[in-house]
Amino acid sequence: MSLFASALSFMRGSAATIAELAAPKQCLMCGTSLAERTHRISTACNACMAALPPPPSPDEIFVRLAKNFARDELAVSRCFSLTVYDETLPFSRMIRSLKYEQIASIGLEFGRETGETMRHLGIMEAEAIVPVPIHHARRRERTYNQSELIGRGIAEKTGVPFLMHALMRRRYTTTQTRLNAEQRHSNLSGAFTAGRDSNLVHDKVVLLTDDVLTTGSTINACATALLSAGARRVDVAVIAAAN
Ligand SMILES: [Zn+2]
Repeated sequence: MSLFASALSFMRGSAATIAELAAPKQCLMCGTSLAERTHRISTACNACMAALPPPPSPDEIFVRLAKNFARDELAVSRCFSLTVYDETLPFSRMIRSLKYEQIASIGLEFGRETGETMRHLGIMEAEAIVPVPIHHARRRERTYNQSELIGRGIAEKTGVPFLMHALMRRRYTTTQTRLNAEQRHSNLSGAFTAGRDSNLVHDKVVLLTDDVLTTGSTINACATALLSAGARRVDVAVIAAAN
């Protein structure tokens, strides 16, 4: 197949892969040229990837998350992250590009990186992967759901089935950034519900995927809906978790 033909068949896949073709020429974290890039991440230089801070441990993430919820409200069992999230760290620029600049390769590649790490550590126990859904109107606006790209990357590296439609987002919720933890909980209550594939999570350990974990209200609202749909347990994987 010619390069053009393979690019075309590649592009036909989805809107996300079109954005993937437009790989940046500079590292999104430090701005150096990516001409010499050898790392499997196409949006960052080797030095920035090598300097990526280690994530808080699953136990640390869980303890921090548990503080935001009453004991019987917490629907998540374990959390894994690839790196740490902090607005002052260069990686936060990567997250911004993923959310607002439509560079889909960030989601897929860091998802693969997360899946590879989980596989390597032997901590993948899930039998199904489910992304945090976005409302269809927002998906149209953004062209992709970053949580879906991350989930697909993890599925690719671990062989765990990916379920696109296990959950549905009912409401177009207002942005969470300016709300405190309590306001976030009520903003999200009832926002997620079982989707048309929800029967496939019945009695399964599910891995819920998202880009960033901060207060955990989105994740927990989704995990609650998955447990209501019959999931046995809900674990979480993100590419960056706040310390
Ligand atoms: Zn760099």
